[in-house]
Amino acid sequence: MACKVVVVGSYNQDHVWQVDRFPQPGETRRGGGFRTGPGGKGFNQAIACVRQDVTTAFVGARGHDALGDGAAALAEAEGLTGCWQVREDVPTGTAAILVEASGQNQIIVDLAANERLDPDFLCTQSALFADARVLLAQLENNLDATRTALQLGGEHELIRVLNPAPVHPDLDADLLGLADVLTPNESEFAQLCARFLDTEVATDDVATLDDERLHALCRQLCGGSVVVTLGRHGSFVSHGDARRGDEAACYRVAAETVKAIDTTGAGDAFCGALVAGLADERVTRFADAVRHAGRVAALSTERAGAATAMPRRDEVVARFG
Ligand code: ADP
Repeated sequence: MACKVVVVGSYNQDHVWQVDRFPQPGETRRGGGFRTGPGGKGFNQAIACVRQDVTTAFVGARGHDALGDGAAALAEAEGLTGCWQVREDVPTGTAAILVEASGQNQIIVDLAANERLDPDFLCTQSALFADARVLLAQLENNLDATRTALQLGGEHELIRVLNPAPVHPDLDADLLGLADVLTPNESEFAQLCARFLDTEVATDDVATLDDERLHALCRQLCGGSVVVTLGRHGSFVSHGDARRGDEAACYRVAAETVKAIDTTGAGDAFCGALVAGLADERVTRFADAVRHAGRVAALSTERAGAATAMPRRDEVVARFG
């Protein structure tokens, strides 16, 4: 089926326990409130996108196991076009998440199949890319696969959005340069500035930098547009593609006022909804896509969980108009 958005990314099965405090090395502690559910930045973002009523394909790798079968069934139930590379040699990605009473968490993630997504498999999916308008990728696969996804997106003239999360130790400037839009959060932005611009910015200070300075850093990071998400401070947009000679502009979009109880996955909600807006021909201004993304992300913080907490378009419209 032809889809407007192609998400190339990760699927992890999250396993979550509540604990009163984290165990010390060698200590066994009781947990409670176990829940398991879908996760992985790519899958979360694909769910956020398809729930905005935009046709969406998810391309990723899973193991030949029960968790992978569950992931494929869930994708179908959500209306995603799932294009899975089923690996016989590795299991489906998993994450173990401990949530302390304080709200702090500790996470161990085994990316497993996600790290073995084969670039050649992506090339066999070129018909998907030919029909789409936007490509979205993150950094939870191997970098060769991500690079191939962005290159295929370029060949088919898609808008290429890269959520540089988590910042990969081998990430290089060439890969960043393949993106038309980058969407780091504050911590990723600080890491990118340190790595590629030799500029130290404290994560906590990003939201308070003046617009001119933020804009200049964004322009140096990537030839395209950059949307820095700033948590409850909303987002900062540095817009315009220097490579196409666009006029550059920058502005902030304030966060919506909500009763946030769980901000896990807010960034994923934002990225998925942003690409939905960029793929929707009724949304003509970049700023409108960013505003809608902020609304979807804000609403997602009022619910626990990640993929399953992604708000639907009609809920967002009912709440914010
Ligand atoms: P991440 O989840 O990657 O750390 P952020 O925390 O920057 O990403 O959140 C992404 C977006 O979600 C923000 O740009 C903002 O629009 C929205 N958001 C996050 N936290 C809140 C909040 N407490 N209130 C309203 N909106 C929020």
